[in-house]
Amino acid sequence: MIEQAIIDKANSVSIKELVSGLNWKTDTTGNKIICPNPDHYYSDNTPGVVFNPQSNKYRCFRCNKSFDSIGFYRSASEIQGNSKTFNEAVSDLLDMIDEDSNVLFDSKKAIKSTNYKGIHLYKCMGYELEYLHQRGICLYDSYKYNGKVYTETTLNKMSDEEQEEIRKQGVFYRGIAHILKKNRVYVKHSFDGVKNYICYEVKYDYDEDEELQERTHSMFENTDRSFVIAKSLDGQSKKNYGHIDFNFITDGMPMNEIYICEGMEDALTYTMNGKASISLNSVGNVNSLMDYFEQCYVPRYNQKIYLSLDNDAAGLNATQKLIDFFVEYNKNHKKQYRYAKVNIPEKFKDINEYWVDKFNQS
Ligand SMILES: [Zn+2]
Repeated sequence: MIEQAIIDKANSVSIKELVSGLNWKTDTTGNKIICPNPDHYYSDNTPGVVFNPQSNKYRCFRCNKSFDSIGFYRSASEIQGNSKTFNEAVSDLLDMIDEDSNVLFDSKKAIKSTNYKGIHLYKCMGYELEYLHQRGICLYDSYKYNGKVYTETTLNKMSDEEQEEIRKQGVFYRGIAHILKKNRVYVKHSFDGVKNYICYEVKYDYDEDEELQERTHSMFENTDRSFVIAKSLDGQSKKNYGHIDFNFITDGMPMNEIYICEGMEDALTYTMNGKASISLNSVGNVNSLMDYFEQCYVPRYNQKIYLSLDNDAAGLNATQKLIDFFVEYNKNHKKQYRYAKVNIPEKFKDINEYWVDKFNQS
């Protein structure tokens, strides 16, 4: 028998973070999900299971089931072909709580691993969130207060008075996890035996088989349709897996402005600020993007493309290439690209550095 206090602790894991971590289908707000009850899931097509922030539970009013963190985790894992006993579920959830621990994650205990061309990907955890917070990027709704970022999970562990102070006086930032999911960008964790990595897994080129693939996850995992950018949390190394290309973070965003950036964190900076973006993921992909603009994309009269590449020789060079392309394209086409360069103050190397400076003042 597990002590009630331990069960309660496991249930204190934010159920919304679990939903996101398991890539569970939600509505745009993340407040409603597809029913995780295996008896209802297969006939449930619209996310209607409602989140209750007071109890940290989801409730389905159609099959009348209520899900706490342990219950959701077990049901969702079962549907995803990865059944957990009650004890295993409690142990997994407790592992996720230890945000302040300095011990490297034991990769065997992490949930949901995908073997991807030599890299194992795991659910994003405290380290990745912290890495992103330092870059002014919040995956989940957060408050910035006295130089620290507080997610719901951290807040829920504090006294009512402390929580109230932070909620009232802190600056609120809306989390972008739901936008990333929509755009099929997944933040994950990996460990290569030496270092911990934050991984950006990008899936592209999907078709109607999508839903089928999600349900029969492991059997249909098609690695050719995704790539992974892995960056060590100490900022020292970067590894790419699969064919790296540019990707859009435009779904769920207003499309009147699109910002082209060199790296994912620059693009996520725009996501944080409610702007659509494209991450080149390498300046070399500027050619691939120009091909796309030439052959596949039709410019819109009410849309402007902003060039927001790095403040260095390679960035300026790629910016010039894009400008030359637009000039040439506009000479030969009736529908014209409208474009402008974002002038990042010289002391910042890229838009993310500029944003971090602003974010840290909040
Ligand atoms: Zn249900």
